[in-house]
Amino acid sequence: MSTNVQSSAERATDTQVVLLGTSGGPRWWSDRAGIATAVVVGESFYLFDCGSGVGRQLRAAGLDIDRLRGVFITHMHSDHVVDLAGLGIFGMFGLEDHTGPVIPVVGPGDRGAVVPASPRATADRGVLYPQDPTPGIAGYWDYSMRANATDLNDRYRDSLRPSPDALFEPREITLPTDLGFHPDHNPVPAMDPVVVYSDELVTVTAILVQHPPVAPAYAFRIDTPDGSVTISGDTAPCENLVRLARGTDVLLHEVIDEEWIAERYGDAGTPEAQTMIDHHLNAHTGIPDTGRIATEAGVGTLVLHHFVPGNRPRDRWETACRFFDGTVVVGDDLMEIPVRAAASRPVPEGQLV
Ligand SMILES: [Zn+2]
Ligand SMILES: [Zn+2]
Repeated sequence: MSTNVQSSAERATDTQVVLLGTSGGPRWWSDRAGIATAVVVGESFYLFDCGSGVGRQLRAAGLDIDRLRGVFITHMHSDHVVDLAGLGIFGMFGLEDHTGPVIPVVGPGDRGAVVPASPRATADRGVLYPQDPTPGIAGYWDYSMRANATDLNDRYRDSLRPSPDALFEPREITLPTDLGFHPDHNPVPAMDPVVVYSDELVTVTAILVQHPPVAPAYAFRIDTPDGSVTISGDTAPCENLVRLARGTDVLLHEVIDEEWIAERYGDAGTPEAQTMIDHHLNAHTGIPDTGRIATEAGVGTLVLHHFVPGNRPRDRWETACRFFDGTVVVGDDLMEIPVRAAASRPVPEGQLV
């Protein structure tokens, strides 16, 4: 047995994952809130993605915002970032006594090149917002706050309230230049995870994943004193994610129902329908592959979330059990999942202890 695994009595923290919202995609499918996840370590928590309803879900989970230590955005799709501005603007009223360091909002940088037009396009559609068509997290934050400047100045000058910019700070992830990353030609080069945040409780690492045409798109791994959590972000099956997740205690994986794709678009026969089929199959992970990935990475518990569509019956998602011998959890909003290192679990090849 490894000697650096603490017994439960020695642990100083109590770590759990709270699924705040479990729906994927830019729409209101059902009662599921938009994708957002908290990793709670003792009195602190770290927030991953800010889907629709994140503020209310934090309230429902009993997570006061003054316990928030960092925000992490996997990629710039709206279903992952749409309520970030709300978190910053409403959240600051719960942070007026905040004396800790500025709260980082860690996420992708600018894509750097506008996404190529679909080969099925029948006319030149041009580019939306051509002055700045692909902002990363820093631009997103800045535009969001500027759009609310009337309100923010009112409260800052007249009501002597704080500024969101004094409490939160966007930080764009920088990739090693020798990776050769390019958003169109080389969006998912093989790489080692990069550290994007650390404090006395956690280390957060990131790796590029396969979610075309979005690039960069990241998965995150959070190593805590109690164990590790890996969050896939949105991705098709890819080797980088397996590398990041190897030996992790809890893997949260996105999932799409491949039977739904066939039902929804299979018979349409239009270029638009085929475009959607291609997007879903190239950019997301079907149910059987979630289990296969968990097996390959040697994880302890597989938790499915970011359901597409968000209104599918549970028994469809439960079929992931056929492809993974470990524990499979079909996530629900506000579900709490303890994070405990499984010292007795066989150590997968390549994991260092
Ligand atoms: Zn998504
Ligand atoms: Zn996405």
